[in-house]
Amino acid sequence: MLERPVVSPSNFAEKSHCWEGNTMVGDFERLAQEFVNPEVELFYRVCGQQDARGRPQIHCQVNARLEMVCQRCLKPVDVVVTSDRVLYLANSEAEAERLEAALADEDVEVMVADKNLDLAGVVEDEVILTLPLVPMHDVCVAPDA
Ligand SMILES: [Zn+2]
Repeated sequence: MLERPVVSPSNFAEKSHCWEGNTMVGDFERLAQEFVNPEVELFYRVCGQQDARGRPQIHCQVNARLEMVCQRCLKPVDVVVTSDRVLYLANSEAEAERLEAALADEDVEVMVADKNLDLAGVVEDEVILTLPLVPMHDVCVAPDA
């Protein structure tokens, strides 16, 4: 079983803690049903950090080559899951709005996390965001005649 660490967002960022590893994608509850083979390894890394003004951020990376079901021919299709993003952490919706307004010139994203930050949930969200809405081969292989 994969441990699902829950951390204090401000402490995680301030101390520059990291949670990382390689595990089967199926070990992530919300990802287990998405892929043809849940036993393929996924690399994940979530690190806390702060911007120059001490505002809390997380740096999230995921990497894997997985298989989904092609929605045209129903055969497996390779899907590369890769993401490398920095998110600001806000402790409320109001704080998120303030941050978004203050950082409007920069290409940043803000995530609301109050007292508890579920790191596995962050990884799951990140993977789900990178998935194609409709997985499909560029060109499906015609079935053998
Ligand atoms: Zn196909």
